[in-house]
Amino acid sequence: MTAAPLMSEILPDLVEEIVYLLQGTGAEPLEAQVRALRITSICDCADDNCASFATVGEVKVARVVELQPVEGFLILDLNAADEICFVEVLGRPDVKYLLEEYYPR
Ligand SMILES: [Zn+2]
Repeated sequence: MTAAPLMSEILPDLVEEIVYLLQGTGAEPLEAQVRALRITSICDCADDNCASFATVGEVKVARVVELQPVEGFLILDLNAADEICFVEVLGRPDVKYLLEEYYPR
């Protein structure tokens, strides 16, 4: 099995958007994590608006960081070790398109 792909390879613009949106939230130190995230699986909820994905094997959410994008919803879910374990992406057809290019259904 090959390693899960880097988010920065599949969704480079989303990485930059999240880094930008982290400014002023108090969660700026997450930038380094965001740049190194790997997409381990994509959400299978089948919601047409959903382009969320997991970034670790086991998702256990302890807290969330809600960002304020111009379009849609972006929420970082962190586990008890303060690692980003899931990225909630809603209402973002641009992201969904890129994910589906990489992970055809
Ligand atoms: Zn979903």
